Formats: sequence, C-alpha cells, structure tokens
Amino acid sequence: MHQDEKIAIIGAGPVGLTTALGLARRGVPCVVYESLHGIAREQRGAAFHPPTLEMLHELGVGEPLMKMGLRIPVWQMRDRVNGVYAEFDLGVLADATDFPFRFH
Ligand SMILES: Cc1cc2nc3c(=O)[nH]c(=O)nc-3n(C[C@H](O)[C@H](O)[C@H](O)COP(=O)(O)OP(=O)(O)OC[C@H]3O[C@@H](n4cnc5c(N)ncnc54)[C@H](O)[C@@H]3O)c2cc1C
Repeated sequence: MHQDEKIAIIGAGPVGLTTALGLARRGVPCVVYESLHGIAREQRGAAFHPPTLEMLHELGVGEPLMKMGLRIPVWQMRDRVNGVYAEFDLGVLADATDFPFRFH
C-alpha cells in the first residue's frame, strides 16, 4: 500500500466505525464516508453479546463501556400469551469468555 493511500470505509455504522478503529489501532490509514450528516443517534444497540464485548475490549473501548450499563447473565425470550419460551444462561460460558453475560 502506497503511503498516500487510504482504505475507504463506506458507512459510519457500528461495522464501519469499528473497522476504522481496528485499522487505526494497527496504523493502517483509512477514511470513513457517511451519507448522513452525522452518526445515527436512535437506539439500535440495547444489548451487547460476549463476542462483541471481547472485540471492544481488544480495541481498548470496553472499559469505559462497562461503566455505562448492566451485566445480564440470564436473559429470556417471551411472547404475550405464554410468557417465557426460551431462557439463555450465559453464565455457562464462564470458562470460555471473560464476559459470560449480555451487557445492556
Ligand atoms: C430498532 C433496532 C434495534 C436494534 N437493537 C440491537 C441490539 O440491541 N443489539 C445489537 O447488537 N444490534 C441491534 N440492532 C442491530 C444493529 O443496529 C445493526 O446490526 C447494526 O446497526 C448494523 O451495523 P452496520 O454498521 O452494518 O449498518 P448500519 O448501522 O445500518 O450503518 C450503515 C451506515 O452506512 C451509511 N450508508 C449507507 N449507504 C451509504 C453510502 N452509499 N455512502 C455512505 N454512507 C452510506 C448509512 O447511513 C449508515 O449510517 C438493532 C437494530 C434496530 C433497527
């Protein structure tokens, strides 16, 4: 890659911005193009799962994030008629990840 060249990333959503951060951390020049005037501010990411938390910690932004929310080891899916129809205990992943919970 020539020293004046940059990787073009189209879209400043979570994927584009995380990719840009990962490249920047490795010293790879990049530029992010976004068709909106700013970053989308509506709520689209209420919950983070273990692999995402692992990645964000590797990128150095996990610690500040962890101060902003709640750790939820057990979460459920419900319907309005029969209530709970699935329950996930991420605590069983404790041997596999430092983040055996959903983060809200
Ligand atoms: C209501 C809602 C709730 C959600 N809740 C969760 C949740 O709790 N947890 C979770 O993990 N995920 C959640 N999601 C999903 C999550 O928001 C998406 O998976 C994530 O936003 C996808 O990221 P992305 O960067 O691929 O795309 P996007 O977030 O869609 O970003 C793409 C960006 O590219 C820009 N763009 C598009 N075309 C061009 C172009 N030609 N030139 C320049 N810019 C362009 C767009 O304007 C946009 O800003 C939710 C989604 C919605 C809608």
